Amino acid sequence: MSQTSSNITAIVGAQWGDEGKGKITDFFAGNSDYVVRFHGGNNAGHTVIVNGETYKLHLIPSGIVYGEPISVISNGVVIDPKALLEEIDYVKKKGISPKLLISDRAHVIMPYHVLLDGALSKHQGKLAAGSTGRGIAPVYADKMFRNGIRIVDLLEPDVLFEKLKKGYAFSKGIIEKALSQKVDISIEDIFVLYCGYGEKLRPYVKDTSVELFQALKKDKSILFEGAQGISLDVDHGIYPYTTSSNTAAGHISTGTGVSFRKIGRIIGVVKAYLSRVGESPLPSEVHGKTAKFLREKGLEYGTTTGRPRRVGWLDLVQVRQAVRVNGLTEIALTKIDILNGFDTIKICVAYNIDGNRVSEMPASLSSYRNAQPIYSLLDGWTELPDEIWNKGFDALPQSLKQYIKFIEKEVDCPIKIVSVGPQRHETIIR
Ligand code: GDP
Repeated sequence: MSQTSSNITAIVGAQWGDEGKGKITDFFAGNSDYVVRFHGGNNAGHTVIVNGETYKLHLIPSGIVYGEPISVISNGVVIDPKALLEEIDYVKKKGISPKLLISDRAHVIMPYHVLLDGALSKHQGKLAAGSTGRGIAPVYADKMFRNGIRIVDLLEPDVLFEKLKKGYAFSKGIIEKALSQKVDISIEDIFVLYCGYGEKLRPYVKDTSVELFQALKKDKSILFEGAQGISLDVDHGIYPYTTSSNTAAGHISTGTGVSFRKIGRIIGVVKAYLSRVGESPLPSEVHGKTAKFLREKGLEYGTTTGRPRRVGWLDLVQVRQAVRVNGLTEIALTKIDILNGFDTIKICVAYNIDGNRVSEMPASLSSYRNAQPIYSLLDGWTELPDEIWNKGFDALPQSLKQYIKFIEKEVDCPIKIVSVGPQRHETIIR
């Protein structure tokens, strides 16, 4: 699979996550030599359906379902070793022998991170981001405190114990003294458990930056798979209702050790409507009959938590930011089929904030709380022609083509991929 390095592809979420990145990644993975996760942890969830078989993945890149590409969990990802080992077993049970590499520099989620996550959410109350409780925020915080434990440490028991003493005491102190919760697992138990995890993971551990660098020299192709979406980016999202990592394409470079100069194609995945798990204002949120319809037809329940997702109309203020911050070269528009049958479709093009028309995401939380959606109303369509994916873009209903062109004009980015169903073949390339 020869490709120039300028053809490295990145796929990122352009909304709140759950845009269908798993399907789009899977669509491209077959042409890639490597599929790489660069941030986040097992708080993500991707569903990929291939030949009627459903795969639910949290940590391992979606490309694993192909068998051929090498899946890489790079240094920017945080790893719960127990969850990872379970996921390795899961894919093995599905008949896949995982070609997996794990960065020796990736940080490790420890039991006290999970405990601290729960205590932190209680402490944050109304400002809590709706954490999945997997220890993601505390492990990233420990990384920045320089208190963290990395995958390589699990392979060196002496170093592990030395670091564990500091990390354990620090988190236990916060949990018990500041947050009045109990830590009921001992340092000795953690040590034994994590040395065991290290041994099981040892065959997969590598310097993945060097691996990818050398792969590029040999003209191999790489697909970077983002998790979550732009509004959950810890810098550019609706802080503090974000995740704890950078979801934007800019993080690929530091999160993998592959230079940003090499990334040529950046695809933003946009769902034709909105969904959101967790707290924060959501200007274009819908309730009642329309919400029930979108949630049930779109199967909007969290892959990781099973929680019903909040839903809303497409918000182009958000997509505009995704285009700008990620430097999107194109958009993949998903779940068009869920909008079949609406007479009129609403699209939020700007916000009314205290009487002002605002077309870019505000940083101010009070502005965002007061944001009222300004909608454009577009004609809907009834059904898509049978086997539309064999007929191509021109065969789409006229009003759907207008809808696509409208989005492109508003956000100044071409829509080159249109997804009309969950299966790999239900995809139109323009
Ligand atoms: P991700 O986290 O961005 O990968 O998104 P999820 O996997 O949580 O959610 C996407 C869901 O939508 C999955 O169940 C996909 O199989 C499904 N899906 C993806 N694209 C389409 C589409 O075009 N139409 C329909 N009906 N479902 C889709």
